[in-house]
Amino acid sequence: MASTNHHRSSLRSERQIPTARGSVANASIRTKPASTKRSVAAGSLRASIDDQNADSGRVRVAVRLRPKNAEDFPFDADFTDCVELQPELNRLKLRKNNWSSESYKFDEVFTESASQRRVYEAVAKPVVESILDGYNGTVMVYGQTGTGKTYTVGRLGKDDPSERGIMVRALEDTIANTNSNLDFVAVSYLQLYLESIQDLLAPEKTNIPIVEDPKTGEVSLPGATLVEIQDLDHFLELLQIGEANRHAANTKLNTESSRSHAILVVHVRRSKRKEDNDASSLASSSNGDLPSFHMPIVQKSKLLIVDLAGSERIDKSGSEGHMLEEAKFINLSLTSLGKCINALAENSPHIPIRDSKLTRLLRDSFGGTARTSLIVTIGPSARHYSETASTIMFGQRAMKIVNAIKLKEEVDYESLCRRLEYQIDYLTSDMDRQQKLRDTEKEQMEKKLKVYEASLADAEKELVVKSEHFEKENIHLELKIKSLLEELNTQKGENNHLFEEVVHLETCLKQSKQHQLESSTYQKVLADTTQMYEKKIAELLKHLEDKNSHCATLEAQMAEMQQQLDDNQKLLQEMSKLNKEAASKVQSLEAENNEILLGKESLNKELKSLQEKLLYEEMQRQTLEVDIVKLKNVLNNHSTELEYKTSHQMDSAIRSTSGLGGALNIPKPNKSRETMSTQRDTISKIFEEVGLSNIIGLLKSGDLDVQIHAVKMVANLAAEDINQEKIVEEGGLDALLTLLESSENTSIHRVTAGAIANLAMNGLNQDLIMSKGGARLLANIASGTDDPQTLRMVAGAIANLCGNEKLQVMLKEDGGIKALLGMVRSGNNDVIAQIARGMANFAKCESRGIKQGYKRGRSLLIDDGALNWMVSKLTTFSAPIRRHIELALCHLAQNEDNAREFVSSGGVKELVRISQESSREDMRNLARKALNSNPAFLAVTRSV
Ligand code: ADP
Ligand code: MG
Repeated sequence: MASTNHHRSSLRSERQIPTARGSVANASIRTKPASTKRSVAAGSLRASIDDQNADSGRVRVAVRLRPKNAEDFPFDADFTDCVELQPELNRLKLRKNNWSSESYKFDEVFTESASQRRVYEAVAKPVVESILDGYNGTVMVYGQTGTGKTYTVGRLGKDDPSERGIMVRALEDTIANTNSNLDFVAVSYLQLYLESIQDLLAPEKTNIPIVEDPKTGEVSLPGATLVEIQDLDHFLELLQIGEANRHAANTKLNTESSRSHAILVVHVRRSKRKEDNDASSLASSSNGDLPSFHMPIVQKSKLLIVDLAGSERIDKSGSEGHMLEEAKFINLSLTSLGKCINALAENSPHIPIRDSKLTRLLRDSFGGTARTSLIVTIGPSARHYSETASTIMFGQRAMKIVNAIKLKEEVDYESLCRRLEYQIDYLTSDMDRQQKLRDTEKEQMEKKLKVYEASLADAEKELVVKSEHFEKENIHLELKIKSLLEELNTQKGENNHLFEEVVHLETCLKQSKQHQLESSTYQKVLADTTQMYEKKIAELLKHLEDKNSHCATLEAQMAEMQQQLDDNQKLLQEMSKLNKEAASKVQSLEAENNEILLGKESLNKELKSLQEKLLYEEMQRQTLEVDIVKLKNVLNNHSTELEYKTSHQMDSAIRSTSGLGGALNIPKPNKSRETMSTQRDTISKIFEEVGLSNIIGLLKSGDLDVQIHAVKMVANLAAEDINQEKIVEEGGLDALLTLLESSENTSIHRVTAGAIANLAMNGLNQDLIMSKGGARLLANIASGTDDPQTLRMVAGAIANLCGNEKLQVMLKEDGGIKALLGMVRSGNNDVIAQIARGMANFAKCESRGIKQGYKRGRSLLIDDGALNWMVSKLTTFSAPIRRHIELALCHLAQNEDNAREFVSSGGVKELVRISQESSREDMRNLARKALNSNPAFLAVTRSV
């Protein structure tokens, strides 16, 4: 209690006043006051001072009013109660007299009806809970005798549990909240009377001394019996024994229990485990098998439940039989307590704690570290006003005391030591095991190392031997490769030589013609084989190069290559033999061939000359025969047989194309007909005997006579339709055209033109003649001669060509029309008749083309002046010629495009004449049709 000053200062004002007295109080605190707060965090003994709420450490004070009893009533009949409770305000009004009262505030105000349970729970239970949490606690009752102190605190409630007082209920809670295996709950029960402490559980123990730990200041009563509590019944038993002992003692001492203080001390020791950072890290780092380390902590708290002696003043006179000694001591403890409470409440520098045993025992309860609750009990009777008032004042003062609640826990060094020893043992044995393991491992490793070293040495030796062997083998293989390469090179040379030979043979073979096939086969074979060798050689070379780089498979491959080379050599030898044989064969064949060729050539020459001789002789014979016939008939004939023949053919041609019947027929005497048939017979005879090809061959003969006769023969043959095709097939047309171009002989010109005129009667031949330039050749001939017979033949040929509508444009472009008109100059009627026939043919074809729609435009005859010529000369010609020209004019008149030229040339007049005078009806009709349909002609006729 003496330390209160200091504690209060630290709680309330942070003032630190270290005093000599303070050290007394500090005895219970192990650390210095200044470092107390720090020790909360750092110290092994946790000193938790609840300084956040200073009020929590304040002494709690409740007031309890005893119900009225029988004793009170007789007196109280005249008096009103001196106290009035305001439990809802926790206030008590003390009425001094009828006109003055004072109000006091308490922590709790219990009316007379308040239950034991409610009193316990409101006042004592928080203290009991503190005890279980490791704090010291005190529950004390103060009051006048008979106000219910013992009832509140010490009632056993054997018959009615609801009557149980605080002691029983506190133990009940303590037992329920502790573990009988781990925790320790024990009690001492003492009585303090006349400053002597007596053990109520062992009444023989009297005057038990109070011992104070000089270091901690902790107060203890080592002489008192300490009984560990098993269960509540056990405690009730003890309490009963205590009560009995107290009663007996008081009887013996001839006193009342109200004069003594009863003190129940409950010791609670609880083991707690606290994580210690350093220790746990040590444990976890050393071995996972070790349990995590907890610092063993033990909480040692003490609960004092004090049933004080009655607080009333002892009336010296009223106390019967009391010894002086008692009067001297009886209230010493209580008086000292009152003084201490006053001092503490008034913040007095001196707390007379040592004045009595009670204050010494309660040093931690008031101004100490315990949680303290005080119940002041009062009676309702106004008779005891002053006692009640003093009790209330005691309570009011006590309320001002603030304790520094502190946890009572310390390290359990004993169990810590045991645990550490166990851990050391465990770790030591573990280390031993590990060491052993490591030793065996090391041994095994060393053994293995030795084995590896030995095998390494062996391997090195083997390596040296093997590398030497490989080097030797390498050198050997390289030498082999070199020799093989050399061999290959020589083979290649030989091969090249052979190839050259083959080439040479090839050239020889080419010369051979007859046995070309055979020889070429050989050549091919040779060339292929040579190529094959070359390829093989190249492959072999490649193989050899590969072998250089791949020594491993060298031997096998080399053997293979050698084999291949041998095979190649053999093949080459065989081939060279074959080559030689072939060459000799070719030579002999060539010689034979040459001989045969020479023989054939000479024979051919002989044959040719003989054939020519024979043909010429035959020709001579025939010519002579023909000449004889000619001479015989010359007198009876006006024209030559040939001419007659040709004109006959031409007339028949005109008839076939123009459909004008025999109007153009030239009457021939009967004799002449006979001669003709004789001649035809002769010609057919020659033809049969000599053959057409031979006759045509004679066209090229160097002999002019032979040539002329041959042409005459061909011309006569061409008069027959059946011969024309053959003549062309045998090249007769080509030969004739060549003659026309190359020959300068007039007779040749005449008979050739006749022959062509005959051939030109056939449409196919007309095409050929034109395409081979026949028209131009004929035009040349026409312009180059004035021989009427020749001109007649040429005009006849062109007239025939005029009848082919496909060739008209070409004929004009090649100068055919111009040449035809040009031949008018000869004035020969026969020639003009052919010209007129040509005009009629041309006009008729044009007219047909226009009618059928594949031709257009002005007539091609107009450009070359044919129309003008025909119109102007029409009347001058003989009847047959006139008929040709009238026909031509009628056809030209049908084309409207010719109308302008027709009108300008005066053709309309001729047309009118034809329509009226022509001997032929079809002609008259044609002329009329043109005159009536053409508006230009109509215009002319109307104007005339
Ligand atoms: P004290 O111990 O203070 O001398 P007691 O506890 O012996 O007083 O009480 C005196 C008498 O009053 C007893 O008979 C007790 O049973 C009775 N008494 C006290 N308080 C109460 C109460 N609250 N309710 C009923 N009876 C009570
Ligand atoms: Mg009592």
